[in-house]
Amino acid sequence: MAKNLTILGATGTIGVNTLDVVARNPEKFRVVALTGQNQIEKLALQCRQFQPRYAVVLESDKASALQALLTDTATEVLAGMEALEFVCALPEIDTVMAAIVGSAGLRPALAAARAGKRVLLANKETLVMAGRFFMEAVRGHGATLLPIDSEHNAIFQSLPANYDGDSARHGVRRILLTASGGPFRTRAVETLKAVTPEEAVAHPNWVMGKKISVDSASMMNKGLEVIEAHWLFNARPEQIEVVIHPQSIVHSMVEYLDGSVLAQLSNPDMRTPIAHSLAYPERVEAGVNWLDLAKLGSLTFEAPDFARFPCLKLAYQALAAGGAATAVLNAANEVAVAAFLDRRIPYLGIAASLESVLGRLTGLPAESLEDLMAADAAARREAQTWVDRESGMASR
Ligand code: NDP
Ligand code: MG
Repeated sequence: MAKNLTILGATGTIGVNTLDVVARNPEKFRVVALTGQNQIEKLALQCRQFQPRYAVVLESDKASALQALLTDTATEVLAGMEALEFVCALPEIDTVMAAIVGSAGLRPALAAARAGKRVLLANKETLVMAGRFFMEAVRGHGATLLPIDSEHNAIFQSLPANYDGDSARHGVRRILLTASGGPFRTRAVETLKAVTPEEAVAHPNWVMGKKISVDSASMMNKGLEVIEAHWLFNARPEQIEVVIHPQSIVHSMVEYLDGSVLAQLSNPDMRTPIAHSLAYPERVEAGVNWLDLAKLGSLTFEAPDFARFPCLKLAYQALAAGGAATAVLNAANEVAVAAFLDRRIPYLGIAASLESVLGRLTGLPAESLEDLMAADAAARREAQTWVDRESGMASR
């Protein structure tokens, strides 16, 4: 029996890779719903190829444009956040790929968890913003959570199959989270102030959306992944160690009490974790090149430099602070990255603004999802004020 899929963020990098794996295994997977945001023509082409029952976008004018492109098809076009939630909870859906970027991905991912689906989580922001509530929804509604982020997928594959988050019982000592170090790993620190958006999005190993590419350059992505690992695997901050591995072949490791370290290796191609999670516990063809270790020659590892990558340190600090701090960090980072991509603030302004916002918004309540949404909104306002002030000063 083919598994029925909803793919949130189908037009993005993860969405396109997911559809590629689906197209290679047509007897195993059937697309029931696809969603996008701005790339309406691309979404229409995907609908023609995969013939989903539903296509969803957030805004009604985009829905009208999409509808006009799909009049001769059987696909029904829907609009709005409720429609995104609706296609995650449909009774016929088995699996939801949650690959919207940013905090907009939270509500649909939660809807999938509350409907007890198999949730393939690419949207790490869901866990950074609201990890406690999302994990409670997964457990409370019998959903299955499979991580798409390559590091967390590697950790999942390296943990015992029956791992329940009790590290002591399973003899798990540490999680070793690998990071490529991004494009600025060896660049002279004094030149970082001149980094352009083009340089920041040019990742050496991975092709990704713009936001996550900038996060990789600043290593905020690794910081968000530390927080993500904390929630996914119930790991304490001191059990999660970041290791720089520039070749991006070892995607992460788990260290056990007896000294064993288990790792998952593959070429850097998101189709591997996507195919793993789509087919789990089976394995399917992903179209990925075989790993040729002899040709690679060497794999190297080094410790991260927190002075070069202050965002990584800020993420550990936010995780240690707990409560709403990681939601504040995530929201402020979204504003700062967008402002950097718009050339309103310099690259170093990302970390500077986060430090300022985290310093101002401490101790916000985090007793409910509403509290976290309020913290997210407050952090956005605070970060925007920082950006406006900074860019106003720069233009004077
Ligand atoms: P992209 O920017 O390539 O794609 C984002 C997708 O979300 C697109 O389909 C976009 O639609 C849609 N979208 C954007 N904003 C909204 C919104 N407000 N409401 C609804 N839909 C929206 O991102 P990626 O595919 O690179 O990343 C997706 C997620 O996966 C992120 O959370 C990222 O951190 C995570 N991830 C990505 C990895 C990668 O290798 N790319 C690796 C690990 C995690 P449209 O394009 O039509 O505007
Ligand atoms: Mg990752």
